[in-house]
Amino acid sequence: AAGTHGWNRVVLKLSGEAFAGGESLGIDPDVVAHVASSIVSVVKQGVQVAVVVGGGNMFRGAAMSERGMDRSRADYMGMLGTVINCLALQDFLEKRGVDTRVQTAITMGQVAEAYIPRRAIRHLEKGRVVIFGAGLGAPFFSTDTTAAQRALEIGAEAVLKGTQVDGVYDADPRTHPDAVKFDRLDYNEVLTRGLKVMDATAVSLCMDNGMPIVVFDLMGQGNIVRAVRGEKIGTLVCP
Ligand code: UDP
Repeated sequence: AAGTHGWNRVVLKLSGEAFAGGESLGIDPDVVAHVASSIVSVVKQGVQVAVVVGGGNMFRGAAMSERGMDRSRADYMGMLGTVINCLALQDFLEKRGVDTRVQTAITMGQVAEAYIPRRAIRHLEKGRVVIFGAGLGAPFFSTDTTAAQRALEIGAEAVLKGTQVDGVYDADPRTHPDAVKFDRLDYNEVLTRGLKVMDATAVSLCMDNGMPIVVFDLMGQGNIVRAVRGEKIGTLVCP
Protein backbone atom coordinates (compact mmCIF):
# COMPACT_ATOMS: atom_id res chain seq x y z
CA ALA A 1 0.00 0.00 0.00
CA ALA A 2 0.96 3.64 -0.20
CA GLY A 3 3.65 4.48 2.29
CA THR A 4 6.64 6.71 2.38
CA HIS A 5 8.38 4.28 0.03
CA GLY A 6 5.67 4.72 -2.61
CA TRP A 7 4.63 2.43 -5.39
CA ASN A 8 6.79 0.39 -7.74
CA ARG A 9 4.38 0.18 -10.66
CA VAL A 10 1.51 2.54 -11.27
CA VAL A 11 -1.07 3.42 -13.86
CA LEU A 12 -1.35 7.17 -14.29
CA LYS A 13 -4.69 8.21 -15.74
CA LEU A 14 -4.61 11.54 -17.55
CA SER A 15 -7.93 13.06 -18.52
CA GLY A 16 -8.26 14.43 -22.01
CA GLU A 17 -9.61 17.65 -20.54
CA ALA A 18 -6.33 18.24 -18.77
CA PHE A 19 -4.48 18.01 -22.09
CA ALA A 20 -6.49 20.96 -23.38
CA GLY A 21 -5.33 23.23 -20.55
CA GLY A 22 -7.61 26.24 -20.45
CA GLU A 23 -9.16 25.46 -23.83
CA SER A 24 -12.03 23.08 -24.43
CA LEU A 25 -10.49 21.39 -27.45
CA GLY A 26 -7.06 20.37 -28.62
CA ILE A 27 -3.71 20.03 -26.90
CA ASP A 28 -1.88 22.63 -24.83
CA PRO A 29 1.85 21.90 -25.25
CA ASP A 30 2.62 23.48 -21.86
CA VAL A 31 0.41 20.91 -20.14
CA VAL A 32 1.97 18.00 -21.99
CA ALA A 33 5.46 19.35 -21.24
CA HIS A 34 4.66 19.63 -17.53
CA VAL A 35 3.24 16.12 -17.38
CA ALA A 36 6.12 14.65 -19.39
CA SER A 37 8.77 16.27 -17.16
CA SER A 38 7.14 14.87 -14.03
CA ILE A 39 6.86 11.40 -15.52
CA VAL A 40 10.52 11.52 -16.51
CA SER A 41 11.59 12.34 -12.97
CA VAL A 42 9.66 9.44 -11.42
CA VAL A 43 10.85 7.01 -14.08
CA LYS A 44 14.44 8.08 -13.31
CA GLN A 45 13.74 7.15 -9.67
CA GLY A 46 12.96 3.62 -10.85
CA VAL A 47 9.17 3.68 -10.73
CA GLN A 48 7.43 1.80 -13.54
CA VAL A 49 4.84 4.08 -15.11
CA ALA A 50 2.06 3.14 -17.50
CA VAL A 51 -0.24 5.89 -18.67
CA VAL A 52 -3.86 5.70 -19.75
CA VAL A 53 -4.80 8.76 -21.75
CA GLY A 54 -8.34 10.06 -22.05
CA GLY A 55 -9.87 11.88 -24.96
CA GLY A 56 -12.39 14.37 -23.63
CA ASN A 57 -10.46 17.20 -25.33
CA MET A 58 -11.09 15.54 -28.67
CA PHE A 59 -14.44 13.84 -28.62
CA ARG A 60 -16.95 12.43 -26.17
CA GLY A 61 -19.10 9.63 -27.53
CA ALA A 62 -21.99 10.04 -25.10
CA ALA A 63 -22.38 13.75 -25.85
CA MET A 64 -22.48 13.12 -29.59
CA SER A 65 -24.97 10.29 -29.28
CA GLU A 66 -27.31 12.65 -27.42
CA ARG A 67 -27.19 14.75 -30.58
CA GLY A 68 -28.32 11.84 -32.70
CA MET A 69 -25.15 9.93 -33.56
CA ASP A 70 -25.02 6.20 -33.19
CA ARG A 71 -23.47 5.66 -29.76
CA SER A 72 -21.05 2.94 -30.75
CA ARG A 73 -19.72 4.85 -33.73
CA ALA A 74 -19.34 7.97 -31.63
CA ASP A 75 -17.48 5.99 -28.98
CA TYR A 76 -15.08 4.63 -31.59
CA MET A 77 -14.41 8.22 -32.62
CA GLY A 78 -13.74 9.00 -28.97
CA MET A 79 -11.28 6.12 -28.72
CA LEU A 80 -9.43 7.33 -31.81
CA GLY A 81 -9.18 10.77 -30.21
CA THR A 82 -7.29 9.34 -27.25
CA VAL A 83 -4.58 8.10 -29.61
CA ILE A 84 -3.83 11.66 -30.74
CA ASN A 85 -3.15 12.56 -27.11
CA CYS A 86 -0.98 9.46 -26.71
CA LEU A 87 1.25 10.46 -29.61
CA ALA A 88 1.65 13.96 -28.19
CA LEU A 89 2.67 12.59 -24.80
CA GLN A 90 5.01 10.07 -26.44
CA ASP A 91 6.80 12.84 -28.28
CA PHE A 92 7.26 15.04 -25.22
CA LEU A 93 8.57 12.09 -23.21
CA GLU A 94 11.03 10.94 -25.86
CA LYS A 95 12.35 14.50 -26.28
CA ARG A 96 13.23 14.29 -22.59
CA GLY A 97 15.18 11.09 -23.11
CA VAL A 98 12.75 8.45 -21.88
CA ASP A 99 11.89 5.43 -24.03
CA THR A 100 8.20 4.93 -24.60
CA ARG A 101 5.80 2.60 -26.33
CA VAL A 102 2.24 3.41 -27.26
CA GLN A 103 -0.05 0.38 -27.19
CA THR A 104 -3.55 0.72 -28.55
CA ALA A 105 -6.62 -1.43 -28.03
CA ILE A 106 -7.57 -0.79 -31.66
CA THR A 107 -4.65 -1.87 -33.81
CA MET A 108 -2.99 0.76 -35.96
CA GLY A 109 0.43 -0.63 -36.74
CA GLN A 110 1.90 2.48 -38.31
CA VAL A 111 1.64 4.55 -35.14
CA ALA A 112 1.50 2.14 -32.21
CA GLU A 113 1.91 -1.40 -31.00
CA ALA A 114 -1.13 -3.51 -30.31
CA TYR A 115 -2.07 -3.90 -26.67
CA ILE A 116 -0.18 -7.00 -25.55
CA PRO A 117 -0.17 -7.15 -21.74
CA ARG A 118 2.92 -9.30 -21.30
CA ARG A 119 4.85 -7.13 -23.70
CA ALA A 120 3.68 -4.03 -21.83
CA ILE A 121 5.09 -5.51 -18.62
CA ARG A 122 8.44 -6.19 -20.32
CA HIS A 123 8.61 -2.58 -21.51
CA LEU A 124 7.94 -1.36 -17.98
CA GLU A 125 10.63 -3.62 -16.57
CA LYS A 126 13.08 -2.08 -19.03
CA GLY A 127 12.20 1.41 -17.78
CA ARG A 128 10.03 2.37 -20.73
CA VAL A 129 6.85 4.33 -20.25
CA VAL A 130 3.92 2.47 -21.77
CA ILE A 131 1.10 4.68 -23.00
CA PHE A 132 -2.23 2.95 -23.48
CA GLY A 133 -4.50 4.38 -26.17
CA ALA A 134 -7.96 3.72 -27.61
CA GLY A 135 -9.39 2.83 -24.22
CA LEU A 136 -10.55 -0.75 -23.94
CA GLY A 137 -11.30 -0.84 -27.63
CA ALA A 138 -14.98 -1.24 -26.83
CA PRO A 139 -17.83 1.27 -26.84
CA PHE A 140 -19.81 2.08 -23.67
CA PHE A 141 -16.65 2.13 -21.57
CA SER A 142 -14.45 4.99 -20.42
CA THR A 143 -10.76 5.58 -20.13
CA ASP A 144 -11.21 5.55 -16.33
CA THR A 145 -12.45 1.97 -16.60
CA THR A 146 -9.53 1.29 -18.92
CA ALA A 147 -7.11 2.60 -16.28
CA ALA A 148 -8.61 0.27 -13.67
CA GLN A 149 -8.54 -2.73 -16.01
CA ARG A 150 -4.99 -2.12 -17.25
CA ALA A 151 -3.74 -1.59 -13.69
CA LEU A 152 -5.21 -4.95 -12.71
CA GLU A 153 -3.94 -6.77 -15.76
CA ILE A 154 -0.36 -5.50 -15.65
CA GLY A 155 -0.07 -5.82 -11.88
CA ALA A 156 0.12 -2.13 -11.00
CA GLU A 157 -0.31 -1.19 -7.34
CA ALA A 158 -2.51 1.86 -7.81
CA VAL A 159 -4.42 3.98 -10.28
CA LEU A 160 -3.38 7.62 -9.99
CA LYS A 161 -5.98 9.85 -11.53
CA GLY A 162 -4.67 13.28 -12.40
CA THR A 163 -7.47 15.77 -12.95
CA GLN A 164 -8.26 19.44 -12.69
CA VAL A 165 -9.46 19.34 -9.07
CA ASP A 166 -7.24 18.57 -6.09
CA GLY A 167 -9.31 15.67 -4.79
CA VAL A 168 -12.83 14.47 -4.16
CA TYR A 169 -15.31 16.83 -2.50
CA ASP A 170 -18.79 16.34 -1.06
CA ALA A 171 -20.06 18.93 -3.58
CA ASP A 172 -18.64 20.66 -6.63
CA PRO A 173 -16.04 23.07 -5.17
CA ARG A 174 -16.39 25.42 -8.15
CA THR A 175 -20.04 26.11 -7.33
CA HIS A 176 -20.03 25.33 -3.56
CA PRO A 177 -17.28 27.30 -1.80
CA ASP A 178 -18.03 25.43 1.45
CA ALA A 179 -17.51 21.99 -0.13
CA VAL A 180 -15.38 19.67 1.99
CA LYS A 181 -12.56 17.58 0.56
CA PHE A 182 -12.13 13.95 1.54
CA ASP A 183 -8.64 12.71 2.41
CA ARG A 184 -9.75 9.12 2.25
CA LEU A 185 -12.86 7.26 1.10
CA ASP A 186 -14.01 3.70 0.71
CA TYR A 187 -15.40 2.50 -2.58
CA ASN A 188 -18.94 2.00 -1.26
CA GLU A 189 -19.13 5.59 -0.12
CA VAL A 190 -18.06 6.76 -3.55
CA LEU A 191 -20.75 4.65 -5.20
CA THR A 192 -23.62 5.32 -2.80
CA ARG A 193 -22.99 9.08 -2.59
CA GLY A 194 -22.37 9.30 -6.31
CA LEU A 195 -19.06 11.10 -5.74
CA LYS A 196 -17.21 12.08 -8.88
CA VAL A 197 -14.06 10.01 -8.59
CA MET A 198 -14.38 7.82 -11.63
CA ASP A 199 -17.43 6.32 -13.29
CA ALA A 200 -19.19 3.54 -11.42
CA THR A 201 -17.83 0.79 -13.68
CA ALA A 202 -14.27 1.87 -12.92
CA VAL A 203 -14.89 2.25 -9.19
CA SER A 204 -16.58 -1.12 -8.84
CA LEU A 205 -13.80 -2.84 -10.77
CA CYS A 206 -11.29 -1.32 -8.33
CA MET A 207 -13.52 -2.21 -5.36
CA ASP A 208 -13.88 -5.85 -6.38
CA ASN A 209 -10.12 -6.19 -6.72
CA GLY A 210 -8.84 -3.93 -3.95
CA MET A 211 -7.11 -1.54 -6.34
CA PRO A 212 -6.36 1.83 -4.68
CA ILE A 213 -7.27 5.04 -6.52
CA VAL A 214 -5.62 8.40 -5.86
CA VAL A 215 -7.38 11.48 -7.25
CA PHE A 216 -5.16 14.55 -7.41
CA ASP A 217 -4.58 17.86 -9.18
CA LEU A 218 -2.46 17.05 -12.19
CA MET A 219 -1.03 20.53 -12.69
CA GLY A 220 0.09 21.28 -9.13
CA GLN A 221 3.87 21.62 -8.94
CA GLY A 222 5.42 18.29 -7.96
CA ASN A 223 2.07 16.55 -7.62
CA ILE A 224 2.70 13.67 -9.98
CA VAL A 225 5.94 12.92 -8.17
CA ARG A 226 4.19 13.03 -4.79
CA ALA A 227 1.33 10.84 -5.96
CA VAL A 228 3.72 8.23 -7.32
CA ARG A 229 5.78 8.29 -4.13
CA GLY A 230 2.61 7.47 -2.20
CA GLU A 231 2.72 10.74 -0.29
CA LYS A 232 -0.49 12.11 1.14
CA ILE A 233 -2.09 14.01 -1.70
CA GLY A 234 -5.59 14.54 -3.05
CA THR A 235 -8.05 11.82 -2.09
CA LEU A 236 -7.20 8.16 -1.57
CA VAL A 237 -9.91 5.58 -2.26
CA CYS A 238 -8.91 2.22 -0.88
CA PRO A 239 -10.27 -0.84 0.95
N1 UDP B 1 -14.24 5.45 -25.12
C1 UDP B 1 -14.88 4.24 -25.33
N2 UDP B 1 -14.41 3.09 -24.75
C2 UDP B 1 -13.31 3.10 -23.93
C3 UDP B 1 -12.67 4.33 -23.67
C4 UDP B 1 -13.15 5.49 -24.27
O1 UDP B 1 -15.86 4.18 -26.06
O2 UDP B 1 -12.91 2.03 -23.44
C5 UDP B 1 -14.69 6.67 -25.82
C6 UDP B 1 -15.92 7.36 -25.22
O3 UDP B 1 -16.72 7.85 -26.28
C7 UDP B 1 -15.32 8.51 -24.44
C8 UDP B 1 -14.14 8.90 -25.29
O4 UDP B 1 -13.66 7.66 -25.81
O5 UDP B 1 -16.23 9.56 -24.30
C9 UDP B 1 -13.03 9.64 -24.55
O6 UDP B 1 -12.68 8.96 -23.37
P1 UDP B 1 -13.03 9.56 -21.91
O7 UDP B 1 -14.33 10.26 -21.94
O8 UDP B 1 -12.86 8.46 -20.93
O9 UDP B 1 -11.85 10.62 -21.73
P2 UDP B 1 -11.54 11.61 -20.49
O10 UDP B 1 -12.82 11.83 -19.72
O11 UDP B 1 -10.50 10.96 -19.65
O12 UDP B 1 -11.01 12.84 -21.13
